[in-house]
Amino acid sequence: MKYDYLVVGAGLFGAVFAHEMAVQGKNVLVIDKRDNVAGNIYTYNKMGINVHQYGAHIFHTSDKEVWDYINEFAEFNNYINSPVAVYKDELYNLPFNMNTFSKMWGIKTPQEASDIISKQAEEEISRINKEKGTDEFEATNLEEQALSLAGRDIYEKLVKGYTEKQWGRDCTDLPAFIIKRLPMRFTYDNNYFNDRYQGIPIGGYTAVIEKLLLMAKDNEIPFVSGSITVKTGVDYYDFIKMSGNVPATPYESVTGDSFDKILFTGMIDEFFGYKLGTLEYRSLRFETQELPDVDNYQGNAVVNYTEREVPYTRIIEHKHFEYGKGAGTIITREYPANWKHGDEPYYPMNDDKNNELYSKYAEMSKEYPNILFGGRLGQYKYYNMDQVIRAALDMARECK
Ligand code: FAD
Repeated sequence: MKYDYLVVGAGLFGAVFAHEMAVQGKNVLVIDKRDNVAGNIYTYNKMGINVHQYGAHIFHTSDKEVWDYINEFAEFNNYINSPVAVYKDELYNLPFNMNTFSKMWGIKTPQEASDIISKQAEEEISRINKEKGTDEFEATNLEEQALSLAGRDIYEKLVKGYTEKQWGRDCTDLPAFIIKRLPMRFTYDNNYFNDRYQGIPIGGYTAVIEKLLLMAKDNEIPFVSGSITVKTGVDYYDFIKMSGNVPATPYESVTGDSFDKILFTGMIDEFFGYKLGTLEYRSLRFETQELPDVDNYQGNAVVNYTEREVPYTRIIEHKHFEYGKGAGTIITREYPANWKHGDEPYYPMNDDKNNELYSKYAEMSKEYPNILFGGRLGQYKYYNMDQVIRAALDMARECK
């Protein structure tokens, strides 16, 4: 069969792009090497609970067009992310706000909180300057940066251990630029995000992707004149006829299908056979536990563990994303992990070295105008879901 597009990756980017192409009247084949669609926003239903297989996913945006767009494919609930941090036997609200400060120092007013933070930060700046024999403060690592912004109490209890677990390195060995600022709110407001719109799609994210990919039975969308065919469990590198590191032209599959263009949402360095070098990622390990005899494990969807000695960074209790009231619960512990070839690449390491290598791959990709690269792995960018939708819509518009 002849298709206008081969879309590699049935994650959010691939699904939005494929949908928009179908709206433009194009015929699209979407493949994914996983056995399911939805990429990292995949959710499955167990014990009546929608489980976020690849970690907590909360949709939030201030982009009204993106919000209106995604609401065509989902009804969102009114979930507001208000995580809690556990440090030893102490419990704090996040993001850093008056509830956090009040618990930490037994104070009530914003002025008291801001005075304590300024005093502690100034003490740290003078101490560091004294040690370095200078009057001009310049943070040379993440620890100095965080201490100069928030003072010692917040750094020790809520920043240090969590950040060291996330990056697998001591804060003194991490560059200062990772923390440009530490968002603090001098109001009693536990809403983690500042965005105008926020929520969780009722029924889970997989259903949203199935609607975008026209897989749902009730998916009668009158203005879609093209078509989308979805094949899961198909790896691009086994599927496409290759010429060296890149697909042979004309683009054909080993099964005899042909394509005018390709959208690739896998790893861009892998696409080019790592010709210029390997991009680096952080990985994660998820440990999910079904607890049929426990109805409410932690009383909140997201609880962060900020001590370094606790090996996981957070525990997610999935039922609280949808205000679940049924019997039993499911929790997931999230462990940060180093990445090596073959592991899932969750977070691009957008430091100077990797960004520079990515720019070279991006430059190389210009030699192939009929191959587009999109999404977190194709564009090597830490995208939130709303940014993925924005980028996919913009790319689809440019393809008109
Ligand atoms: P992916 O979802 O990774 O999709 C790419 C797809 O391509 C995958 O399905 C993969 O199997 C497939 N693929 C790759 N290579 C091949 C190949 N060779 N052949 C065939 N298929 C291939 N965003 C938010 O807005 N809010 C959150 O709360 C949030 N939480 C997050 C938590 C975690 C732990 C992580 C890792 C991310 C989070 N994000 C969040 C970001 C969100 O997951 C991404 O924005 C989004 O999933 C990216 O979509 P994508 O299509 O670019 O990539």
